[in-house]
Amino acid sequence: MVYDNPDDVKIGLEVHVQLNKLKTKLFCGCSTDYHNSDPNSHVCPVCLGLPGSLPVINERAVEFAIKIGLALNCSIVEQTQFHRKNYYYPDLPKGFQTTQYDYPIAGNGKIVIEGEDGERVIRITRAHMEEDPGRLQHIGNIERSKGTLINYNRSGMALIEIVSEPDMRSPKEARRYLDKLRSILDYLDVFNGDLEGAMRVDANVSVFNGQRVEVKNISSFKGAERALLYEIMRQKNHIRRGGTITMETRHFDEARGVTLSMRTKEEEHDYRYFPEPDLVPLRVADRVPEVIKTLPELPDAKKERFMKEYNIADMHARALTIEIKVANFYEEVVSKVDPKVAAVWVADILKGELNYRDLTIDAFRVEDIVDVMELVIANSITEQSGVEIIRTVLDHGGKPQDIINKKGLLKVEDNIVAKAVEEAIAQNPEAVADYRAGKEKSLNFIVGKVMQKTKGRADAREARERLIEKLKE
Ligand SMILES: [Zn+2]
Repeated sequence: MVYDNPDDVKIGLEVHVQLNKLKTKLFCGCSTDYHNSDPNSHVCPVCLGLPGSLPVINERAVEFAIKIGLALNCSIVEQTQFHRKNYYYPDLPKGFQTTQYDYPIAGNGKIVIEGEDGERVIRITRAHMEEDPGRLQHIGNIERSKGTLINYNRSGMALIEIVSEPDMRSPKEARRYLDKLRSILDYLDVFNGDLEGAMRVDANVSVFNGQRVEVKNISSFKGAERALLYEIMRQKNHIRRGGTITMETRHFDEARGVTLSMRTKEEEHDYRYFPEPDLVPLRVADRVPEVIKTLPELPDAKKERFMKEYNIADMHARALTIEIKVANFYEEVVSKVDPKVAAVWVADILKGELNYRDLTIDAFRVEDIVDVMELVIANSITEQSGVEIIRTVLDHGGKPQDIINKKGLLKVEDNIVAKAVEEAIAQNPEAVADYRAGKEKSLNFIVGKVMQKTKGRADAREARERLIEKLKE
């Protein structure tokens, strides 16, 4: 990729994914299910780094890592090796982090995102395995905290760090990359993204081909977009004022929406990487064929299939396949109703109402959306009533049929609409005359009268067509 324009923004992301669907940690038998447990209750000599304790690799974690590498179109290394990354920090009791260095398990991958101007390929440099450190908990505000507590429950959890090339050109593209990554990981069923700390982002940003700055501790995707917007503006302003950007690490203060300098960036040699003597090199190439068999249909492939099999638009197919749960929901729905109609109701209407309420697809039942669609298709209720039923189910619960009865949403009989049309014409001669004289808007007024007479249970579009027909006479 060539960057000719000196204005170019370059963003690369490092995403830490916690493999929290594993039953045990990366190198010991401690349970990963610690989120509702007391501090320091899921620990043992290995993950506390006690002298003499020895790590044993979690085989499932290696399988998950291969699966992720394959799904990101990476090549899987023949043989991998763990290294010690030496640094001292209270949340790291061993004084080093066990990670991978020059033989990451996967590398040279790519994912495709919807860029600012069409599809864009974001290259994945590498994906490697490492252990999570423990967690510091500051009492009160971090800057004025009276003390810090340490919880080692997280220490030793398996992480995959996914490192991209600096191929993203705007905060929005970075956000789309993160969304796509999350989508792929959800499909793979290797982690629960809703758990706290399941995906953590560090960003590298540079502008005007300058030095890159690392922004750490970004805990949400929305936070990533905000941190990048701020950091790009800060760097550009600094350069415009004659300053230069030096390589450094900054921290994102989510509450204030700003990045703050933490330290000048360490060089790699500061970490004194050396091969982990307690873990033998691991031959992984032989495992690849069996892991390939466990790969599910991934978002891009599912999108293509939906377009072909259900004959739906690219936009709908994309919206329906971002989340595996929505894709499964849609496929259950299309076993009962027309796929094209279902695409509109699920992708546009239902998802819109869910997003508005910050809800997921679990909040709605397949049989209920099928009921609503069947009633609309049978012309028993209007589309507007269908939307109203969905809103009512989401806000107050209940079944569509009960809501229809309670709110009187069944469409009125044809002859009642016909009668209302005739009355509306007879009772509003001025509006009728105006319409006939060419004032299109007067028709809306008469349609309104018909809707009033039918208490909103006529289909407005049908009422309009009937009126036009009648007024031609
Ligand atoms: Zn342990």
